[in-house]
Amino acid sequence: MFDIDTKCVQSGYSPKNGEPRVVPLVQSTTYVYDTPEEMGELFDLKREGFFYARLGSPTVDALEKKIADLDGGVGALCCASGMAATTLTALNLCRTGDNFISTSTIYGGTYNLFCTTLPKYGITCKFVKPDAGIKEIESLIDEKTKFIFCETIANPAMAVADFGKLSAVTKKYGIPLIVDNTLATPVICRPFEFGADIIIYSSTKYLDGHATSLGGIIVDSGKFGYLGNPRFPDFNQPDESYHGLVYAKDFGPMAFLVKARGQMMRDLGAQAAPFNAFLTILGIDTLHLRMPRHSSNALAVAKMLKDNPAVEWVEYGGLESDVNYPLTKKYFTNGMASGMVTFGIKGGREAAAKFQKALKLFRIVTHIADARSCVLHPASTTHRQLSDADLVKCGISNNLIRLSVGIESEKDIIGDVKNALEASQK
Ligand SMILES: *Cc1c(COP(=O)(O)O)cnc(C)c1O
Repeated sequence: MFDIDTKCVQSGYSPKNGEPRVVPLVQSTTYVYDTPEEMGELFDLKREGFFYARLGSPTVDALEKKIADLDGGVGALCCASGMAATTLTALNLCRTGDNFISTSTIYGGTYNLFCTTLPKYGITCKFVKPDAGIKEIESLIDEKTKFIFCETIANPAMAVADFGKLSAVTKKYGIPLIVDNTLATPVICRPFEFGADIIIYSSTKYLDGHATSLGGIIVDSGKFGYLGNPRFPDFNQPDESYHGLVYAKDFGPMAFLVKARGQMMRDLGAQAAPFNAFLTILGIDTLHLRMPRHSSNALAVAKMLKDNPAVEWVEYGGLESDVNYPLTKKYFTNGMASGMVTFGIKGGREAAAKFQKALKLFRIVTHIADARSCVLHPASTTHRQLSDADLVKCGISNNLIRLSVGIESEKDIIGDVKNALEASQK
């Protein structure tokens, strides 16, 4: 068994004699077979192989193998974006009339999907605060509840998932725990080790790490029991679109992923582009070097903010005084807490605007988690569709500023933020 550092560099692709050292970028939508029988078996899911890029292709496959190995899963499914990964996962488990539970402090796009779009198709979400007790969560579960969803580190509310609590509930009721691990990455946290069943990434963020490629990934632990589980008839009844195969019976630990690819990806078509997968693989090759640097730079920024007179409050799970510090210590590797820091600026929206305009190194972008430092004011951008009441439910105040601390020099980063804070109060 290799260390995670080695896996970041080497996993997913292992060339044979005379083959290219670097995973090839295979830019072909279609694959050739000598006989119609072989092609037919692929369509029946009786044989593994590529035939049409909506269902899979070699470069995308290498990325799936790499991330599955990093997380300790049985496999993965790459999607066109993080949102596509979350949508396909929800639809793979739910049909009209079903519901699920999610912590309320989640990414704005996911919040919209859960509280606006999925309900239009009869799939509803019950939100709980991240610190909700086991009893409260249990009281929301009925026979139509299909999963519990949370983010390892909530974007941008910063709450750290209490895996022990959530997985105790999911195990008791026989439903999967789904974790969006985008902000932590497998270098900082591996949720399968703490009871998660499915992990989702927006690979657009740290996995790519260079702001070049949109992408999403679903990783499955392969450990959840679908077979005979009365909550999941779609895994236990014949799929007539594949001549009556039964996912839980015929595919064992691969049931979730085979169904996600064979039904959801086939019919909804949110496949990852090979070139994006190629760039994301290059990104992951250095993930184990970038995450410690993002984390140490962010910790330095958080410490500086804590003592700055222009700052009302700071949230960073790596700060010993932070409410999330105990969970950070319990679940994260080597004290790392990733690169995102949020704080409340004195002077509200007006000071927030002045602060952003005075920054030189941090640029205003709708993005986080790339090598370059960046800044965003959610109340006037990503979360502007939400009412003030909804903002509070998501754990966001109107003076919240989100910094995504990059991997530049710590001294330069601190200098830039300090200068801009001073300018914000004038
Ligand atoms: C960005 C993000 C997403 C959505 O990913 P896209 O690739 O932009 O679709 C989902 N979850 C989290 C935590 C994110 O930061």
